[in-house]
Amino acid sequence: MEQIDISVVVPLLNEEESLPELAAWIERVMQQHGFTYEVVMVNDGSTDSSWQVIKDLNRSNPCIKGICFQRNYGKSAALHSGFRMVSGDVVITMDADLQDSPDEIPELYQMIMEEGYDLVSGWKKKRYDPITKTIPTKIYNAATRAASGIYLHDFNCGLKAYRKEVVKNIEVYGEMHRYIPVIAKWEGFTKIGEKVVEHRARKYGTTKFGLERFVNGLLDLMSIMFVSRFRKKPMHFFGMLGVLSFLFGGGAALWLLGDKVYRSAMHMEIGRQVTEQPLFYLGLTLIIIGVQLFLAGFLAELISLNNTSRNEYLIRERVE
Ligand code: UDP
Ligand code: MG
Repeated sequence: MEQIDISVVVPLLNEEESLPELAAWIERVMQQHGFTYEVVMVNDGSTDSSWQVIKDLNRSNPCIKGICFQRNYGKSAALHSGFRMVSGDVVITMDADLQDSPDEIPELYQMIMEEGYDLVSGWKKKRYDPITKTIPTKIYNAATRAASGIYLHDFNCGLKAYRKEVVKNIEVYGEMHRYIPVIAKWEGFTKIGEKVVEHRARKYGTTKFGLERFVNGLLDLMSIMFVSRFRKKPMHFFGMLGVLSFLFGGGAALWLLGDKVYRSAMHMEIGRQVTEQPLFYLGLTLIIIGVQLFLAGFLAELISLNNTSRNEYLIRERVE
């Protein structure tokens, strides 16, 4: 197989107007710099003519390849399938809507190949997005920085460059495309850099994500921090909480029992019944919660042993 310098992965949902322009622009940049390249356009269940456009592009330029999902699985799934298919030394991801500029590609390539970065993330320093998006984005980026210890300004920038080994060894699933640097870091790819990139207003079509992205984004951040620490050992998380809960509950029960025995041994007044004391109910609840946490831990262990299917997507068609 021919050696390829750069693979560009483009996830897309209903972007028919942008695709020919994007393809021509990428082609121009690649030819100017003499790169061998491929572009993998992943059609994530578009309902417009995007797939037809991709097939036409492929016919006139075999460097443009495509994957067509049976339905809309989301951007992470599209990136994942693109990553499986590519073979370039450097893999670049880019949105299809022309908000990211292909002119950035040569410099990103150089940062990976010559400066030795594993991953370089774009930073849309000057953004052309509505304010309802830019402010939540700041909060979200600050939270991700604090939680992950990776000092990027703009985690969710669609324009990123990777060393090939990175994309072949990380698993992007669910909605985790926002956290690829975090995933890369816990797979051991720690040389993560940033490049200020030009950002442009959307030319055609509309954004595919609403405001719920920020709530979902923060929930995903919590799961990714949890998963990155405990994926291989969920019992350490559940078990620890379970032990604490069980100890406090058991302690409360023992205290009540001790108190009862002591009082009767000393022939003291019996006082209130055990079941009349709030502590009894607290102890009981904590013991039950403790046991449940243990069960959750064991189940999580079994599940993490067994899942092989979380990244199986139904691909309807490919052109290569
Ligand atoms: N996209 C996708 N699947 C989806 C949603 C979006 O492949 O379910 C693509 C979309 O076509 C675009 C990229 O992901 O190429 C980024 O989406 P968009 O431009 O709507 O996001 P924004 O720029 O508003 O963050
Ligand atoms: Mg966009």
